Amino acid sequence: MAVRPIVVWPDPRLREETSEVNGISDEILTLYKDLWDTMIAYEGIGIASPQIGEPVKMFLIDAGVALGEKGADPVAFINPEIVSTGGEIERNEEGCLSFPNIYVPIERPNQATIRAMGIDGQIFEIEGRELLARALLHEYDHLTGKLMVDFVGPLKKRMIKRKLARAAEED
Ligand SMILES: [Zn+2]
Repeated sequence: MAVRPIVVWPDPRLREETSEVNGISDEILTLYKDLWDTMIAYEGIGIASPQIGEPVKMFLIDAGVALGEKGADPVAFINPEIVSTGGEIERNEEGCLSFPNIYVPIERPNQATIRAMGIDGQIFEIEGRELLARALLHEYDHLTGKLMVDFVGPLKKRMIKRKLARAAEED
């Protein structure tokens, strides 16, 4: 297991096309564990493979958020598909490990159902509401190259870019 460096926007790896997973190989198990370690180390509630530079269709959500089981293994979503979204459109602040210390209000439906393969190789469906719906849709976006900055106007986008560039210089 290893904590991997987080890919920070505007790194082009966040926009790379992601590939489907064909079954649970040793590589996929290692990727799962690396995502897990990295998510914990950076205190995220979710993380997607492109965020550690791996263009693979897999993301993780913290078990407390996904299942209401704090301390359980994070839930892997492999080759996820959105089955449906619904409920009301809610506007809420979102953060992202690839945008350290940036929070952006984003409108999303507050219900989402996703079908995916788990780390056990079984297909499952999960219906998320509120925070879980938001987390599912946010992480799903990563696998299609969509990012928080795609929800804001050009002015705000430039501001975020400057802020991240300044933070990178200070490191
Ligand atoms: Zn993110």
